[in-house]
Amino acid sequence: MDDIRSPSRRALLFGHVPAASSPAACRPPWSKSEPEFLAACTRCDACVRACPEQVLLRGADGLPRFEAHAGECTFCGDCVAACGNGAFEPARDPPWTLVAGVADTCLSAQGVVCASCREVCPASAIRVPPGARGAATVDPETCTGCGACVVPCPVDAIALHHAPAMEAVA
Ligand code: SF4
Ligand code: SF4
Ligand code: SF4
Repeated sequence: MDDIRSPSRRALLFGHVPAASSPAACRPPWSKSEPEFLAACTRCDACVRACPEQVLLRGADGLPRFEAHAGECTFCGDCVAACGNGAFEPARDPPWTLVAGVADTCLSAQGVVCASCREVCPASAIRVPPGARGAATVDPETCTGCGACVVPCPVDAIALHHAPAMEAVA
């Protein structure tokens, strides 16, 4: 997951991140640390094929990556079960350090009523000020990083990032 830039903790706490800090890729949930993952993964595609949501893609380097623009991770664990090479840590909680952040391009920050992200969030982690009086915000303590809110946003204002406070335990 070393190719994901991390916004400041202050930005995450307020659920705001600049659009330019959108992550390029990340590993599946419960993946071991990047060095361990690279050592264990044989690029066999077993996890990619096992994902019922089809949110795991084979990258140009042959490694699996989670793509939130493809849909939502339901944390079913099928990718972990499919791996026979020890690339995952299934007992780890939480399964990854991803959380969602909202860019200033959020329609609600521009005075346009919208709550598409809030309506689809399975964790009820998103708040949208009434009357379009500000951008949507994400509670990083509640957000699971599932990515369900990414596709429904009409202006692509939501991206996933690693939570700085959780990096030490990942
Ligand atoms: S936990 Fe399930 S939905 Fe999420 S990436 Fe793995 S197989 Fe796909
Ligand atoms: S990533 Fe998932 S849990 Fe987090 S705010 Fe978006 S929909 Fe909710
Ligand atoms: S769906 Fe996008 S534009 Fe609408 S409130 Fe959420 S972040 Fe803002």
